[in-house]
Amino acid sequence: MSHAPTDGATRELREQTEKLLQRLGVETPPPGELSARTPITGRELITLRASDSAAVDAAITRAATAFRNWRTVPAPQRAAVVRRLAALLTAHQDELGELVTLEAGKIGAEARGEVQEMIDICEFAIGLSRQLYGRTMPSERPGHRLMETWHPLGVVGVISAFNFPVAVWAWNTAVALVCGDTVVWKPSEATPLTALACHELLRRAAREVGADPEVHQLIQGPAAIGEQLVDDSRVALVSATGSVRMGQRVAPRVAARFGRCLLELGGNNAAIVTPSADLDLTTRGIVFAAAGTAGQRCTTLRRLIVHASVAGPLLDRISAAYRQLRVGNPLDEGVLVGPLINERAYDGMRSALERALADGGELICGGERLEGPDEDAFYVRPALVRMPAQTAVVREETFAPILYALTYHDLDAAIELHNGVPQGLSSSIFTRDQREAERFLAADGSDCGIANVNIGTSGAEIGGAFGGEKQTGGGRESGSDSWKTYMRRATNTVNYSTELPLAQGIRFE
Ligand code: NAD
Repeated sequence: MSHAPTDGATRELREQTEKLLQRLGVETPPPGELSARTPITGRELITLRASDSAAVDAAITRAATAFRNWRTVPAPQRAAVVRRLAALLTAHQDELGELVTLEAGKIGAEARGEVQEMIDICEFAIGLSRQLYGRTMPSERPGHRLMETWHPLGVVGVISAFNFPVAVWAWNTAVALVCGDTVVWKPSEATPLTALACHELLRRAAREVGADPEVHQLIQGPAAIGEQLVDDSRVALVSATGSVRMGQRVAPRVAARFGRCLLELGGNNAAIVTPSADLDLTTRGIVFAAAGTAGQRCTTLRRLIVHASVAGPLLDRISAAYRQLRVGNPLDEGVLVGPLINERAYDGMRSALERALADGGELICGGERLEGPDEDAFYVRPALVRMPAQTAVVREETFAPILYALTYHDLDAAIELHNGVPQGLSSSIFTRDQREAERFLAADGSDCGIANVNIGTSGAEIGGAFGGEKQTGGGRESGSDSWKTYMRRATNTVNYSTELPLAQGIRFE
């Protein structure tokens, strides 16, 4: 079989990558053992060196040294780096977005949106730099003041996943920097080039505002590199985004050295559709959440729990929409679903579908791999499968576009089904009945970190805290008061009287 089309296409993509890197201010890295591939053709774009153990150690040392001064820079001044980063990201939004498309396979609109999310979190962090509020509480003792102050924590180790190669880094880094922390970043081994670009942009931002560029360090390579970061007691916070399996390895190691962990792990997100739902709006919400990013978002909709009375018409609409979705090269105009990241992802999808069908599932549409010249690239049609029950395969996260549909008769049973999985990231209810909506949001409703009404499970805004419960890891990143994880809290009691009263009225004379 000839691979001429792929070879030609890959050559073009290589040239495009080199140009993008240049325009982003990244020098072509020296060749090495780490392979940067594109899921568009499945081929290698460029190779680069992985960090060895000494390089990881040196990066942590540099970050720890930089922290000693950075923590004393006033937070609003620290924000100058983030402000400059936002300006550079705005100027390079198209180039960085294109690099995300090349490396992660996201369609243009989503890749650009990911860069927009970086700019949004920078803006949030700039404002936050003047709002790192501590509380003052009434002291029980006369002539005393009781208060909390928040201080920089130290070196933050950021471990990120392939599917949000740049936004998750920005969520962590923009907030960590204004909080006075320094960062060592271990990106996914599948997306080293976007990492190089972000690293360069940030260091340039620091230099341009006269700050120390050593506040950010980049280490590249496989999981073992991440493990070294996880085990190093100079790393005060390990913020790790990825699979539950990764979190299960990382969390106990960080706990063993009494470090702090922020885990953003897998999801198995569901939407409940009630009889009163607006089916047009629901269909649009579901199709974007389930098929967008080729099912490779942590918040991808994977389970649909639909009332039996509307299951027929809803599934008809979804399958009609699925049949119209253009799957293909994410650089092409009009394509809505790009490739899976690699063959392993495709194998995972195929085996999950086989198991679902063996469990009595009925494949309504999709699931097939699209034939093309690129035998190393994996393009699939999003699958819709009607399941008789929530079997083991439905309770697992398969990182591919499979939507399992289940039916219900009673809302309490639907909520039980909804919560009956080990993960707890994102959730939705589609309804026009306020009682049902409130029931879903109540304490005995959805058990997820994100619970939405009449919008899909994916596509969170940065203003809210992002994260999930149970096996999703319990971490919160991005907006709201997530910054508190990146700082340490001190409780201060100041005695401005001439007496020394003890708390709880204790007399010690
Ligand atoms: P992955 O777990 O394979 O890898 C994620 C990162 O962890 C990579 O950088 C990897 O090198 C590193 N890693 C793996 N094992 C490690 C270890 N033992 N010690 C230290 N580092 C280690 O995940 P992936 O395939 O890149 O991404 C997909 C997964 O990430 C999905 O499960 C998805 O749901 C999840 N995810 C979660 C969120 C969230 O915010 N909850 C966001 C994006 C992705």
